[in-house]
Amino acid sequence: MSKLLQEDQQYVWHPFTQMQTAREPLEIVQAKDATLYTADGKSYLDCNSSWWVNIHGHGNPVLKAALIEQYDAIDHVIFAGATHPKAVELSRRVLEILPDNLAKVFFSDDGSTAVEVALKMAFQYWHNLGAPKKRVLALDGAYHGDTFGAMSIGQRGYFNEPFEHFFFETDFLHFPTPERESECLEQATKWLDSGEFAAVIVEPLIQGSAGMRMYSASFLQALTELAQSRGVLVIYDEVMTGWGRTGTLFAMDQQSAKPDIVCLSKGLTGGILPLGLTVATQAIYDAFLAPETTKALLHGHSYTGNPLICAVACANLDLVAMPEFTANIQRIAANHAVFREKMKDHPRLSDVRQLGTILALEIKMDSGSSYFSNIRDKAYDFFLEHGLLVRPLGNIIFLNPPYCMTDAELFTAYAAMEAFLKELD
Ligand SMILES: *Cc1c(COP(=O)(O)O)cnc(C)c1O
Repeated sequence: MSKLLQEDQQYVWHPFTQMQTAREPLEIVQAKDATLYTADGKSYLDCNSSWWVNIHGHGNPVLKAALIEQYDAIDHVIFAGATHPKAVELSRRVLEILPDNLAKVFFSDDGSTAVEVALKMAFQYWHNLGAPKKRVLALDGAYHGDTFGAMSIGQRGYFNEPFEHFFFETDFLHFPTPERESECLEQATKWLDSGEFAAVIVEPLIQGSAGMRMYSASFLQALTELAQSRGVLVIYDEVMTGWGRTGTLFAMDQQSAKPDIVCLSKGLTGGILPLGLTVATQAIYDAFLAPETTKALLHGHSYTGNPLICAVACANLDLVAMPEFTANIQRIAANHAVFREKMKDHPRLSDVRQLGTILALEIKMDSGSSYFSNIRDKAYDFFLEHGLLVRPLGNIIFLNPPYCMTDAELFTAYAAMEAFLKELD
């Protein structure tokens, strides 16, 4: 074991990791474009974009320049009672690319906090109006982050069992498969008619952590319109789906309903620094305006609106506006579509699905899907041996690569997936 790995073992507690049984972590010393390099001279294709965040590849020079330039101006400054050019520029430019009903940008640190802020906005909105509402409607299988509010509206199970008795009341609709859409809308109507719901929250079009599960744009639109017709706020958690992941800039762009609140993070900085944004309508913002401080959104974090991160996020918007950005997304989606077609009747697969740059293969199992089934570990190890970093979700093997991944690299990944399925024979 290298000295670094020894020290890692001595000092570090890793996320989502059973430290007693975990294999040695990869010792990454360099990253460029879609490739990660280890201390022992090996390289790995970053097939899941470094936990779904990295959209332009590693070492992007535009993001680097923005970071360095900003450092010479302002590194960090308090964001209550002070502002700075990059936070204002970022807010203006993000609002320009979001639906026109969204009007105000609130800053936080990551996806989970963007969701926490959305929930606090929704609950306090009703509180400030003098009509408090306690319930939230979410989808079965939801993942919105690991803080308490975000866990409350997420799938119950292994991951958050120790905390479950602290969660607030959330009602979960069945996942809206095509056969179940109308049943889900009926159930939602019943619940939302109660007048007790503060908000509906969804991952638009695709649930990431649930195993890259997809549902229709028409359902998203119908649920949104239904909730809004009952006066219930609708929150789109675009933390994973934003920034081209689903083929359009945002997943919500594939239908015409507009949310009351949007959460953004992950690719927002190109995936190199943490930042969360919660974007709300003017009507929500206005409900916090009053002579009393107690009606304000009394929430914030030490690093809120960090100028270095805002500068990088602005540079990300420059990259997103370039023709290569869209061209690469279309190129990856087209490659995925060809491979999807090739694999659709594979005897080892129960489903092959794709949305934009996300491709998921669901391996047939005897007893349903589970994060803990050992097929997951087998697949993880197999891909590492073949020079690919792929983190399956249970029996779901998926690719959501940085958009700089070349055709040749994609073909390497497809070939490794086919080889893994062969290995199961
Ligand atoms: C990753 C994710 C989050 C949480 O974001 P963090 O930055 O990990 O806190 C929330 N919602 C969705 C849909 C996500 O994929």
